[in-house]
Amino acid sequence: MPLAATRTSVPVSVDEEKCIAQKGCTVCVDVCPLDVLAIDMVKGKAYMKFDECWYCMPCEQDCPTGAVHVAIPYLLR
Ligand code: SF4
Ligand code: SF4
Repeated sequence: MPLAATRTSVPVSVDEEKCIAQKGCTVCVDVCPLDVLAIDMVKGKAYMKFDECWYCMPCEQDCPTGAVHVAIPYLLR
């Protein structure tokens, strides 16, 4: 799996204002079947670590604060 080059080039973005990973939340990391999300321990925020996605959506749906946004490619909609 390719490591994400930058956090803005990947399909899944995390609103760091909303993310409460610093309080112990790991929901999005736990629900992702591909294991491509991770918690940045320095920032205390979730982010997309690997540039790979099935667009299955539980990360966005289950995030308790609505911090996760999955940008679904046009051809998959
Ligand atoms: S589920 Fe939401 S609040 Fe929790 S770590 Fe992921 S982005 Fe942050
Ligand atoms: S949409 Fe699915 S595969 Fe993509 S990051 Fe979210 S849970 Fe993981």
